[in-house]
Amino acid sequence: MMDLVIPDKVHDESRQGEALLLTPVEGKNNGRKLYIESYGCAMNFSDSEIVASILAEQGFETTGDYTNADVIFINTCSIRENAETRVRNRLKEFKEAKRKNPGMVVGVLGCMAERLKAKFLEEEKLVDVVVGPDAYRDLPNLIDQVDGGQKAVNVLLSREETYADISPVRLNSNGINAFVSIMRGCDNMCSFCVVPFTRGRERSRDPFSIVKECTDLFNSGYREVTLLGQNVDSYKWASEDETERVNFANLLERVALINPDLRVRFSTSHPKDITDEVLYAITKHDNVCNYIHLPVQSGNSRVLELMNRTYDREWYINRIDAIRRIIPECAISTDVITGFCSETDEEHKETVSMMEYVKYDFAYMFMYSERPGTLAAKRYADDIPEAVKAARLTEIVALQQQHSYSRMLAQLGKVQKVLIEGFSKKSKNDYAGRSDQNAMVVFPVDERYKPGMYVNVLAERCTTATLMGTIVPPDPLKGEGNSLTGLK
Ligand code: SAM
Ligand code: SF4
Repeated sequence: MMDLVIPDKVHDESRQGEALLLTPVEGKNNGRKLYIESYGCAMNFSDSEIVASILAEQGFETTGDYTNADVIFINTCSIRENAETRVRNRLKEFKEAKRKNPGMVVGVLGCMAERLKAKFLEEEKLVDVVVGPDAYRDLPNLIDQVDGGQKAVNVLLSREETYADISPVRLNSNGINAFVSIMRGCDNMCSFCVVPFTRGRERSRDPFSIVKECTDLFNSGYREVTLLGQNVDSYKWASEDETERVNFANLLERVALINPDLRVRFSTSHPKDITDEVLYAITKHDNVCNYIHLPVQSGNSRVLELMNRTYDREWYINRIDAIRRIIPECAISTDVITGFCSETDEEHKETVSMMEYVKYDFAYMFMYSERPGTLAAKRYADDIPEAVKAARLTEIVALQQQHSYSRMLAQLGKVQKVLIEGFSKKSKNDYAGRSDQNAMVVFPVDERYKPGMYVNVLAERCTTATLMGTIVPPDPLKGEGNSLTGLK
């Protein structure tokens, strides 16, 4: 199956299968090596950091080479069938390593573990441990069980677990951008989606631990945080006596106030829940980025109803209009599914016309993939031929390319405030970073500026995915500045 992705960072294709490496906790080495690799969305990568920090406390050292590991963990994704196929193929590669080292522990974590539970142990003989997303605190016990000759499973979902007290280790990172989970699970029950089954009920993490984590990140040099949740707009927290209540707009402001030099991004917003209050919070703080990921899934109201998205075409358009009115410069991206059960050509055309209406900056586009156990799998036939799904996908991908390009062209001649993230992938002579609106910007290295600093870059050329330009001096009259000048 083909997934076509115009990337931003929430599901980063280039990171799929990446192994996590960290320095050992002093005085705690137990002589065993852990190899952990992750698939799927940013939430999974963030969870692997929690797992690594739990096991580092037990004295595990990480390794980037699974052939010399004592424990191999694979943190999995179930969102589409091809995500699961990729994991199954990877497990085949671990077989040989386990044959050479029979004492090796192989564990499956994350959404596939939750979906398949103990069945995994029957289907994949080499797997010793199966652990769902809410059971990572139990990992040391589960590894002990396996050491004692048992297979081990914990797929209990929790209504409370947010891992709020565990500070994730972030050693694979560039030290500049970090993902911070603000909630877990999802209560929405979109009919195509497996997430409510694999990640359980929605729960919000307490705001104090979130602000503390972001403050600690800022103090250790990070300059951008992305607040993560399946539906950040339904973030809600109340003190026990209910005198203090925090919604997503309040949380955004609290994080924005940590420091004006800390950029704040967030994902994902749900069209049914994104309020004008959130949009005003974005405009109020310069450091909250003008970028919203607002998955539409389909532009047709009947299909949206079958998908159980709980909004219709008019509602979605109303939210887009509100964004354009309140934050005129805002970049907007989306997710689209083609060929959902019974989708007609006419209905698909409404998705196309929605894309024409919004002119998204980016889009993640997928063919519908039936997931066992979901409402759609139970209620509706997966009746659109793969060739039709693929043709519709190809059509919207081509359209999105045009829109991405025209959105980029509109930035030419404008000065972008860029947070330098590192060297460009193609050349050590260029820096790369993102604009406020999440566009990748590449420009020649100037030794006076280092990764983690802000610079003003005049956009001079572009492709569909990247702006290219040069650093320009700040305009003191506008109160702008590059980090070097100390002006903001
Ligand atoms: N919570 C987010 C939301 O509601 O927009 C996104 C969650 S999901 C990890 C990311 C995207 O995967 C969805 O927005 C949807 O477009 C896509 N997706 C989910 N289930 C799918 C399925 N069964 N087939 C194809 N795409 C799917
Ligand atoms: Fe899945 Fe819908 Fe929840 Fe997103 S909001 S995770 S698509 S059920």
